[in-house]
Amino acid sequence: MPDVAAEPFVRPSWQEAVRTAVRDPAELLQLLDLPTAALGAAASAPFGLLVPRSFVARMRKRDPNDPLLKQVWPFANELDAVPEFTADPVREQGLAAHGLLQKYAGRALLIASGACPVHCRYCFRREFPYREQLAARGDWSEAIAALAKAPDVREVILSGGDPLSLSNRRLSELLARLADTAATTVRIHTRFPIVVPERIDDGLVRLLGGTRFRTVVVVHTNHANELDLAVERALAELRAALSALLNQAVLLKGVNDDADSLVSLSERLFDCGVLPYYLHLLDRVAGAAHYEVDETVGKKLIADLRARLPGYLVPRLVRETAGELSKSPVA
Ligand code: SF4
Repeated sequence: MPDVAAEPFVRPSWQEAVRTAVRDPAELLQLLDLPTAALGAAASAPFGLLVPRSFVARMRKRDPNDPLLKQVWPFANELDAVPEFTADPVREQGLAAHGLLQKYAGRALLIASGACPVHCRYCFRREFPYREQLAARGDWSEAIAALAKAPDVREVILSGGDPLSLSNRRLSELLARLADTAATTVRIHTRFPIVVPERIDDGLVRLLGGTRFRTVVVVHTNHANELDLAVERALAELRAALSALLNQAVLLKGVNDDADSLVSLSERLFDCGVLPYYLHLLDRVAGAAHYEVDETVGKKLIADLRARLPGYLVPRLVRETAGELSKSPVA
Protein backbone atom coordinates (compact mmCIF):
# COMPACT_ATOMS: atom_id res chain seq x y z
CA MET A 1 0.00 0.00 0.00
CA PRO A 2 1.40 3.45 -0.81
CA ASP A 3 1.76 5.79 2.14
CA VAL A 4 -1.07 8.19 1.24
CA ALA A 5 -0.31 10.53 4.13
CA ALA A 6 3.23 11.01 2.80
CA GLU A 7 2.07 11.94 -0.71
CA PRO A 8 1.86 15.69 -1.31
CA PHE A 9 -1.64 17.04 -1.97
CA VAL A 10 -1.80 18.20 -5.58
CA ARG A 11 -4.36 20.92 -6.20
CA PRO A 12 -6.10 20.22 -9.52
CA SER A 13 -4.91 22.67 -12.14
CA TRP A 14 -7.27 25.04 -13.91
CA GLN A 15 -6.24 23.49 -17.22
CA GLU A 16 -7.38 20.11 -15.92
CA ALA A 17 -10.70 21.63 -14.79
CA VAL A 18 -11.29 22.92 -18.32
CA ARG A 19 -10.12 19.70 -19.97
CA THR A 20 -12.49 17.58 -17.90
CA ALA A 21 -15.50 19.94 -18.17
CA VAL A 22 -18.86 18.35 -18.97
CA ARG A 23 -19.64 18.50 -22.70
CA ASP A 24 -22.35 15.88 -22.99
CA PRO A 25 -25.93 16.96 -22.08
CA ALA A 26 -26.83 13.39 -21.07
CA GLU A 27 -23.95 13.30 -18.59
CA LEU A 28 -25.01 16.64 -17.10
CA LEU A 29 -28.54 15.32 -16.52
CA GLN A 30 -27.11 12.20 -14.93
CA LEU A 31 -24.85 14.19 -12.59
CA LEU A 32 -27.87 16.22 -11.48
CA ASP A 33 -30.15 13.20 -11.04
CA LEU A 34 -32.54 14.54 -13.65
CA PRO A 35 -34.59 12.33 -15.99
CA THR A 36 -33.71 12.48 -19.68
CA ALA A 37 -36.86 14.43 -20.55
CA ALA A 38 -36.51 16.99 -17.73
CA LEU A 39 -35.32 19.83 -19.97
CA GLY A 40 -36.43 18.57 -23.37
CA ALA A 41 -34.03 17.58 -26.14
CA ALA A 42 -30.76 19.50 -26.09
CA ALA A 43 -30.07 21.73 -29.10
CA SER A 44 -27.14 20.44 -31.06
CA ALA A 45 -25.23 23.40 -32.40
CA PRO A 46 -21.61 24.41 -32.95
CA PHE A 47 -21.78 26.30 -29.64
CA GLY A 48 -22.02 23.11 -27.62
CA LEU A 49 -22.54 22.48 -23.94
CA LEU A 50 -19.44 23.29 -21.87
CA VAL A 51 -19.54 23.47 -18.08
CA PRO A 52 -16.78 22.74 -15.55
CA ARG A 53 -17.54 20.12 -12.92
CA SER A 54 -17.11 22.46 -9.94
CA PHE A 55 -19.81 24.70 -11.45
CA VAL A 56 -22.07 21.65 -11.84
CA ALA A 57 -21.44 20.86 -8.16
CA ARG A 58 -23.01 24.23 -7.29
CA MET A 59 -26.27 23.30 -9.03
CA ARG A 60 -29.14 21.81 -7.02
CA LYS A 61 -29.78 18.15 -7.80
CA ARG A 62 -33.17 17.12 -9.20
CA ASP A 63 -34.11 20.75 -9.93
CA PRO A 64 -34.67 21.51 -13.64
CA ASN A 65 -35.16 25.18 -12.72
CA ASP A 66 -31.81 25.60 -11.04
CA PRO A 67 -30.53 29.11 -11.94
CA LEU A 68 -27.01 27.89 -12.76
CA LEU A 69 -28.25 25.02 -14.90
CA LYS A 70 -30.49 27.40 -16.85
CA GLN A 71 -27.48 29.48 -17.87
CA VAL A 72 -25.71 26.57 -19.55
CA TRP A 73 -28.38 24.17 -20.79
CA PRO A 74 -28.81 24.26 -24.61
CA PHE A 75 -32.62 24.45 -24.74
CA ALA A 76 -34.09 23.26 -28.04
CA ASN A 77 -35.72 26.65 -28.65
CA GLU A 78 -32.24 28.12 -29.23
CA LEU A 79 -32.70 26.91 -32.78
CA ASP A 80 -35.94 28.89 -33.37
CA ALA A 81 -35.52 31.93 -35.60
CA VAL A 82 -36.83 34.98 -33.73
CA PRO A 83 -37.08 38.37 -35.51
CA GLU A 84 -34.48 40.92 -34.27
CA PHE A 85 -32.32 38.21 -32.69
CA THR A 86 -29.22 38.05 -34.88
CA ALA A 87 -25.71 36.57 -34.99
CA ASP A 88 -24.10 39.97 -34.33
CA PRO A 89 -26.48 41.96 -32.12
CA VAL A 90 -24.09 44.81 -31.29
CA ARG A 91 -22.67 44.90 -34.84
CA GLU A 92 -19.01 44.45 -33.90
CA GLN A 93 -18.05 41.62 -36.25
CA GLY A 94 -15.78 42.82 -39.01
CA LEU A 95 -14.87 46.00 -37.10
CA ALA A 96 -11.18 45.14 -37.07
CA ALA A 97 -9.58 41.95 -38.33
CA HIS A 98 -6.60 42.35 -36.00
CA GLY A 99 -8.87 41.89 -32.98
CA LEU A 100 -8.92 45.45 -31.65
CA LEU A 101 -12.30 47.12 -31.20
CA GLN A 102 -12.26 50.87 -30.62
CA LYS A 103 -15.88 51.55 -29.85
CA TYR A 104 -15.29 53.73 -26.79
CA ALA A 105 -13.43 57.04 -26.39
CA GLY A 106 -10.07 56.63 -24.62
CA ARG A 107 -10.46 52.84 -24.42
CA ALA A 108 -9.80 49.95 -26.74
CA LEU A 109 -10.95 46.36 -26.44
CA LEU A 110 -8.64 43.54 -27.45
CA ILE A 111 -10.12 40.14 -28.27
CA ALA A 112 -7.29 38.35 -26.48
CA SER A 113 -8.59 34.80 -26.79
CA GLY A 114 -11.44 32.92 -28.41
CA ALA A 115 -11.64 30.27 -25.69
CA CYS A 116 -13.98 30.22 -22.67
CA PRO A 117 -14.17 28.02 -19.56
CA VAL A 118 -17.95 27.74 -19.92
CA HIS A 119 -20.49 28.31 -22.67
CA CYS A 120 -23.10 30.78 -21.47
CA ARG A 121 -26.09 30.26 -23.73
CA TYR A 122 -27.02 33.97 -23.80
CA CYS A 123 -23.50 35.14 -24.79
CA PHE A 124 -23.63 37.95 -27.36
CA ARG A 125 -20.41 36.66 -28.89
CA ARG A 126 -21.64 33.07 -29.23
CA GLU A 127 -21.33 33.41 -33.02
CA PHE A 128 -18.29 35.68 -33.04
CA PRO A 129 -15.82 34.61 -35.77
CA TYR A 130 -12.80 34.27 -33.48
CA ARG A 131 -10.83 32.40 -36.14
CA GLU A 132 -10.87 35.50 -38.33
CA GLN A 133 -9.35 37.64 -35.57
CA LEU A 134 -5.57 37.61 -35.41
CA ALA A 135 -5.39 38.55 -31.72
CA ALA A 136 -7.80 35.80 -30.71
CA ARG A 137 -5.42 33.38 -32.47
CA GLY A 138 -2.49 34.68 -30.43
CA ASP A 139 -0.97 37.11 -32.93
CA TRP A 140 -1.06 40.51 -31.26
CA SER A 141 1.42 42.39 -33.44
CA GLU A 142 -1.11 44.34 -35.55
CA ALA A 143 -3.29 45.18 -32.57
CA ILE A 144 -0.29 46.43 -30.57
CA ALA A 145 0.95 48.43 -33.57
CA ALA A 146 -2.50 50.07 -33.85
CA LEU A 147 -2.49 50.84 -30.12
CA ALA A 148 1.01 52.31 -30.31
CA LYS A 149 -0.39 54.87 -32.77
CA ALA A 150 -3.30 55.75 -30.46
CA PRO A 151 -1.94 57.88 -27.58
CA ASP A 152 -5.49 58.76 -26.49
CA VAL A 153 -6.14 55.12 -25.51
CA ARG A 154 -5.44 55.04 -21.77
CA GLU A 155 -7.28 51.85 -20.95
CA VAL A 156 -7.00 48.52 -22.73
CA ILE A 157 -9.79 46.06 -22.06
CA LEU A 158 -8.83 42.42 -22.50
CA SER A 159 -11.89 40.49 -23.57
CA GLY A 160 -12.76 37.41 -25.57
CA GLY A 161 -13.70 34.64 -25.24
CA ASP A 162 -12.02 34.79 -21.86
CA PRO A 163 -8.57 36.40 -21.62
CA LEU A 164 -7.70 34.27 -18.59
CA SER A 165 -7.77 31.28 -20.97
CA LEU A 166 -4.24 32.47 -21.76
CA SER A 167 -1.51 30.91 -19.65
CA ASN A 168 0.32 33.16 -17.19
CA ARG A 169 3.30 33.13 -19.54
CA ARG A 170 1.24 34.32 -22.52
CA LEU A 171 -0.55 36.90 -20.39
CA SER A 172 2.79 38.17 -19.14
CA GLU A 173 3.98 38.49 -22.75
CA LEU A 174 0.85 40.43 -23.65
CA LEU A 175 1.27 42.85 -20.72
CA ALA A 176 4.91 43.36 -21.72
CA ARG A 177 3.82 44.21 -25.28
CA LEU A 178 1.22 46.64 -23.97
CA ALA A 179 4.01 48.48 -22.14
CA ASP A 180 4.89 49.97 -25.56
CA THR A 181 1.57 51.83 -25.64
CA ALA A 182 0.22 54.87 -23.76
CA ALA A 183 -2.20 52.74 -21.75
CA THR A 184 -2.10 53.17 -17.98
CA THR A 185 -4.91 50.78 -17.08
CA VAL A 186 -5.55 47.20 -18.14
CA ARG A 187 -9.03 45.87 -17.52
CA ILE A 188 -9.77 42.15 -17.77
CA HIS A 189 -13.28 40.88 -18.45
CA THR A 190 -13.44 37.30 -17.24
CA ARG A 191 -15.76 34.56 -16.01
CA PHE A 192 -12.83 32.27 -15.05
CA PRO A 193 -12.58 33.20 -11.32
CA ILE A 194 -16.27 32.32 -10.95
CA VAL A 195 -16.52 29.08 -12.92
CA VAL A 196 -12.95 27.78 -12.40
CA PRO A 197 -11.59 29.45 -9.24
CA GLU A 198 -8.37 27.40 -9.55
CA ARG A 199 -7.41 29.87 -12.30
CA ILE A 200 -6.45 32.38 -9.58
CA ASP A 201 -3.08 30.77 -8.94
CA ASP A 202 0.01 32.31 -7.35
CA GLY A 203 1.57 33.11 -10.72
CA LEU A 204 -1.46 35.09 -11.88
CA VAL A 205 -1.72 37.03 -8.61
CA ARG A 206 2.01 37.89 -8.81
CA LEU A 207 1.69 38.90 -12.45
CA LEU A 208 -1.28 41.22 -11.93
CA GLY A 209 0.15 42.67 -8.72
CA GLY A 210 3.57 43.29 -10.25
CA THR A 211 2.70 45.07 -13.48
CA ARG A 212 3.13 48.83 -13.96
CA PHE A 213 -0.51 49.08 -15.04
CA ARG A 214 -3.46 49.77 -12.82
CA THR A 215 -5.35 46.51 -13.09
CA VAL A 216 -9.11 46.18 -12.96
CA VAL A 217 -10.89 42.84 -13.17
CA VAL A 218 -14.58 42.65 -14.05
CA VAL A 219 -15.93 39.19 -13.28
CA HIS A 220 -19.25 37.89 -14.55
CA THR A 221 -21.70 36.42 -12.03
CA ASN A 222 -25.45 36.23 -12.48
CA HIS A 223 -26.62 34.46 -9.33
CA ALA A 224 -25.46 34.26 -5.70
CA ASN A 225 -25.29 30.44 -5.87
CA GLU A 226 -22.28 30.78 -8.18
CA LEU A 227 -20.25 32.24 -5.30
CA ASP A 228 -19.25 29.30 -3.10
CA LEU A 229 -16.38 29.21 -0.61
CA ALA A 230 -13.73 28.28 -3.20
CA VAL A 231 -14.74 31.27 -5.34
CA GLU A 232 -14.78 33.56 -2.30
CA ARG A 233 -11.21 32.53 -1.43
CA ALA A 234 -10.02 32.96 -5.01
CA LEU A 235 -11.59 36.42 -5.25
CA ALA A 236 -9.92 37.47 -1.98
CA GLU A 237 -6.51 36.49 -3.40
CA LEU A 238 -7.23 38.23 -6.68
CA ARG A 239 -8.49 41.43 -5.09
CA ALA A 240 -5.27 41.90 -3.15
CA ALA A 241 -3.42 42.30 -6.47
CA LEU A 242 -5.81 44.76 -8.14
CA SER A 243 -6.91 48.38 -8.24
CA ALA A 244 -10.56 47.34 -8.48
CA LEU A 245 -12.68 44.19 -8.62
CA LEU A 246 -16.16 44.59 -10.13
CA ASN A 247 -18.97 42.38 -11.38
CA GLN A 248 -21.18 42.47 -14.42
CA ALA A 249 -24.33 40.40 -14.68
CA VAL A 250 -26.92 39.84 -17.38
CA LEU A 251 -30.61 40.08 -16.51
CA LEU A 252 -31.92 36.64 -17.48
CA LYS A 253 -35.44 35.26 -17.38
CA GLY A 254 -35.72 32.36 -14.94
CA VAL A 255 -32.23 33.00 -13.53
CA ASN A 256 -32.18 36.35 -11.73
CA ASP A 257 -35.27 38.32 -12.83
CA ASP A 258 -36.63 38.84 -9.32
CA ALA A 259 -35.63 41.32 -6.63
CA ASP A 260 -34.70 38.67 -4.03
CA SER A 261 -32.18 37.02 -6.40
CA LEU A 262 -30.60 40.35 -7.32
CA VAL A 263 -30.40 41.51 -3.69
CA SER A 264 -28.75 38.19 -2.72
CA LEU A 265 -26.32 38.52 -5.62
CA SER A 266 -25.23 42.04 -4.60
CA GLU A 267 -24.87 41.06 -0.94
CA ARG A 268 -22.93 37.91 -1.73
CA LEU A 269 -20.65 39.80 -4.12
CA PHE A 270 -19.95 42.28 -1.35
CA ASP A 271 -19.06 39.37 1.01
CA CYS A 272 -16.52 38.38 -1.63
CA GLY A 273 -15.06 41.88 -1.95
CA VAL A 274 -16.64 42.58 -5.35
CA LEU A 275 -18.79 45.61 -6.22
CA PRO A 276 -21.76 45.21 -8.59
CA TYR A 277 -21.03 47.33 -11.66
CA TYR A 278 -23.39 46.57 -14.53
CA LEU A 279 -26.64 44.67 -14.94
CA HIS A 280 -27.01 44.25 -18.70
CA LEU A 281 -30.26 43.93 -20.55
CA LEU A 282 -29.89 40.97 -22.87
CA ASP A 283 -28.16 41.56 -26.19
CA ARG A 284 -30.46 40.16 -28.84
CA VAL A 285 -28.24 37.36 -30.06
CA ALA A 286 -29.78 34.51 -32.08
CA GLY A 287 -30.61 31.58 -29.81
CA ALA A 288 -31.13 33.60 -26.64
CA ALA A 289 -34.67 35.00 -27.04
CA HIS A 290 -36.02 32.83 -24.20
CA TYR A 291 -33.80 34.71 -21.72
CA GLU A 292 -35.10 38.18 -22.51
CA VAL A 293 -36.56 40.30 -19.71
CA ASP A 294 -38.53 43.38 -20.65
CA GLU A 295 -36.87 46.75 -19.99
CA THR A 296 -39.78 47.95 -17.82
CA VAL A 297 -39.31 44.89 -15.58
CA GLY A 298 -35.60 45.70 -15.36
CA LYS A 299 -36.31 49.28 -14.29
CA LYS A 300 -38.76 48.12 -11.64
CA LEU A 301 -36.19 45.65 -10.29
CA ILE A 302 -33.58 48.40 -10.00
CA ALA A 303 -36.09 50.57 -8.11
CA ASP A 304 -36.67 47.60 -5.75
CA LEU A 305 -32.91 47.21 -5.25
CA ARG A 306 -32.56 50.93 -4.46
CA ALA A 307 -35.18 50.53 -1.74
CA ARG A 308 -33.41 47.54 -0.19
CA LEU A 309 -29.66 48.10 -0.66
CA PRO A 310 -27.09 50.85 -0.13
CA GLY A 311 -26.38 52.72 -3.38
CA TYR A 312 -22.94 51.10 -3.84
CA LEU A 313 -24.58 47.67 -4.10
CA VAL A 314 -27.05 48.69 -6.84
CA PRO A 315 -25.66 47.92 -10.33
CA ARG A 316 -26.31 50.22 -13.28
CA LEU A 317 -28.90 48.80 -15.64
CA VAL A 318 -27.49 49.24 -19.14
CA ARG A 319 -28.15 48.34 -22.73
CA GLU A 320 -25.57 48.04 -25.50
CA THR A 321 -26.82 49.69 -28.67
CA ALA A 322 -25.13 48.93 -31.98
CA GLY A 323 -23.21 51.95 -33.29
CA GLU A 324 -23.21 53.93 -30.02
CA LEU A 325 -19.94 54.95 -28.36
CA SER A 326 -20.81 53.68 -24.90
CA LYS A 327 -23.41 51.58 -23.11
CA SER A 328 -26.72 53.40 -22.60
CA PRO A 329 -27.82 53.64 -18.97
CA VAL A 330 -31.43 52.55 -18.60
CA ALA A 331 -31.82 52.96 -14.81
S1 SF4 B 1 -17.49 33.23 -20.60
FE1 SF4 B 1 -18.06 35.27 -21.42
S2 SF4 B 1 -17.41 35.22 -23.58
FE2 SF4 B 1 -17.46 33.07 -22.83
S3 SF4 B 1 -19.50 32.29 -23.33
FE3 SF4 B 1 -19.63 33.12 -21.24
S4 SF4 B 1 -20.31 35.25 -21.53
FE4 SF4 B 1 -19.53 34.53 -23.52
